Parts: sequence; structure tokens; C-alpha cells
Amino acid sequence: PFDVLVIGGGPAGATAAIYAARKGIRTGIVAERFGGQILDTLGIENFISVKYTEGPKLAASLEEHVKHYNVDIMNLQRAKRLEKKELIEVELENGAILKSKAVIIATGARWRNLGVPGEAEFKNKGVAYCPHCDGPLFEGKHVAVIGGGNSGVEAAIDLAGIAKHVTVLEFAPELKADAVLQDRLYSLPNVTVIKNAQTKEITGTDKVNGITYIDRATGEEHHIELQGVFVQIGLVPNTEWLEGTVERNRFGEIIVDKRGATNVPGVFAAGDCTDSAYKQIIISMGSGATASLGAFDYLIRN
Ligand code: FAD
Repeated sequence: PFDVLVIGGGPAGATAAIYAARKGIRTGIVAERFGGQILDTLGIENFISVKYTEGPKLAASLEEHVKHYNVDIMNLQRAKRLEKKELIEVELENGAILKSKAVIIATGARWRNLGVPGEAEFKNKGVAYCPHCDGPLFEGKHVAVIGGGNSGVEAAIDLAGIAKHVTVLEFAPELKADAVLQDRLYSLPNVTVIKNAQTKEITGTDKVNGITYIDRATGEEHHIELQGVFVQIGLVPNTEWLEGTVERNRFGEIIVDKRGATNVPGVFAAGDCTDSAYKQIIISMGSGATASLGAFDYLIRN
């Protein structure tokens, strides 16, 4: 069995694995996609001490750093069940059962869906989630960004440089993004911001041709003709597979204490899959280190 088994290969999981391996204990890491969300990130300017880097480059350095230690890396493997017996057992989708004295869950998060008609039908036919990946497909076109939080406004600023016009639709009466991002957004000539807008439907034939929304102030329905819709309404933690085992809050985030411990003895968690207040690379790494030290502390006491 492993001493520490990490589930997830993003910034949190990679950090947890390195901290464990440096204690000289038997460490494994299971990742569906090593690197995690940073693989979908272009510019990173807030990874302190590095003025600028790009996601795939940072992901490659993470992997190189983990490989520098004696860590058993199981990439392209998905965990589907966790059970506390004498040891903690983690079952993978391929049927394998891994056993470990301590487990650190670092399965991160994914884009949230809007759940309106047209969204699923036109996915990759005009409906997109990753502006860095799909933005260039909309060069010279009219796109909408749903969501006026940091990610939505960042996406709109990004897309304004590629698309002909960007319409931001925010459900609330105000944008929630940081003031500096809003200032930047409002300074752009080809951006329209519509607040109080409830998206009703994404329309199209073989691909997206428009969006219908309800003005929540007046109740009136409006239609905008456009070719692309970027959904930027937040992240959902990848924790469904823990249903009934590890305690989570109403958002599905794993509840951890200051050592990264969950309600199950020997099971720790870190990064975007937890109830941490902010979801950032540097924060995930810090919590990965915390959970790993917490797990080591647990091991020497049990
Ligand atoms: P993730 O990066 O989500 O990694 C989760 C890992 O778990 C992945 O390896 C995944 O494949 C794996 N996994 C999931 N489920 C399972 C399972 N069942 N079994 C096995 N493995 C599983 N942060 C910044 O600090 N600066 C930025 O500029 C920045 N820009 C961003 C831009 C975009 C487009 C996005 C999406 C995020 C950005 N972030 C940024 C946020 C940052 O990427 C995340 O906070 C960070 O990646 C979280 O790390 P994590 O390790 O907790 O989770």
C-alpha cells in the first residue's frame, strides 16, 4: 500500500505529492489529466516570483518537478469511489483498487453549465467555455459572454481583441468582477454590457445564430443575433464521486480544517475541490502543502 495517495494532478495535487515524497514515504498520484485547469490557461501573471508564464508551460514544470522525486504517477486514470476500511481504498474507473494509509483529494473543479435550451445542442458549434482555447475560432464575429464575474470579464476583454463585438450578459444588477477588470472592460469600444439579463435560450440551426434573454427589470424578452456564446458562470468542484463518504458543503466543496483534514480520518483535501475562499494556483499549491503535512502528521500519530 501507499503511505500517501494523491488524487488529482493539478497544482494542489502536484504540490501534495512533492511534499509527501520529500518525507521519504511511499507516494502515489492518480490524475485524469496531469496539469489540471492550468492546461486551459494562457497567460499567468500572478504566480508570484514569475512575472509571466503560460499554463501548459507551468503544467510541464509541475510534472517535471514531481518526476524528480520517487512518486508513482498514474496519469489518465480516474478515481470513482473512496472507502475507508482498515486502509483507505480508492477504486479507479479501470477497476483497479489502490490502498493507502492516507489519501489527499485534489480533484479541482470544472466549468459550470448554464442549463438552458441550446447549450448542450450547440456545444462546440458556437457554445464554448474556454476563451483561450476557442476564442480564435470567433475572429471577426459577434459573441456573447454569459457571466460578469472575474472569469467572464476576463474572457470578454480577451475576446474583444479577437471578435468584432462582445456582449456581456450579467444576471445580477451589477458586475461582480474586480474594479480594475471592469474599468478595462468599459474602456473597450466593441463591448456592450447588459445587466439584469436572464439567458433563456441559445438559438441556432446547425450552429449558434443568437441568444434570447429576459430583462429581469422589465420582464421583456430580447434576442441578439450572434455566432458564439462563452459560458463563464463559475466552477463546480469535481467531488461527485465522493457522495456519501466525504463531507461537502452545499456547493459540493469538500469541507477541510486548517490542516486540510476532512471528516474521514486519514483523508485530506486541497485546492479548488475544497471550501477554500479563493481558487487560485498559488492558493491551491499552499493548500496542497498543508494537506500533505497534515497527512504526514496523521501518519506519525497512527
Ligand atoms: P485543478 O487544476 O482543477 O486539477 C485537478 C486535477 O484533478 C486534474 O489533474 C484533474 O484531471 C484531476 N481529476 C479530477 N477528477 C478526478 C478523478 N475523479 N480522478 C482522478 N483525477 C481527477 N489561477 C491563478 O492563480 N492565476 C491565473 O491566471 C488563473 N487563470 C485561470 C484561467 C482559467 C481559464 C482557469 C480555468 C483557471 C485559472 N486559474 C488561475 C485558476 C487555477 O487554474 C486553479 O485555481 C488551479 O488550477 C486549481 O488547482 P487544483 O490542483 O486544485 O485543481
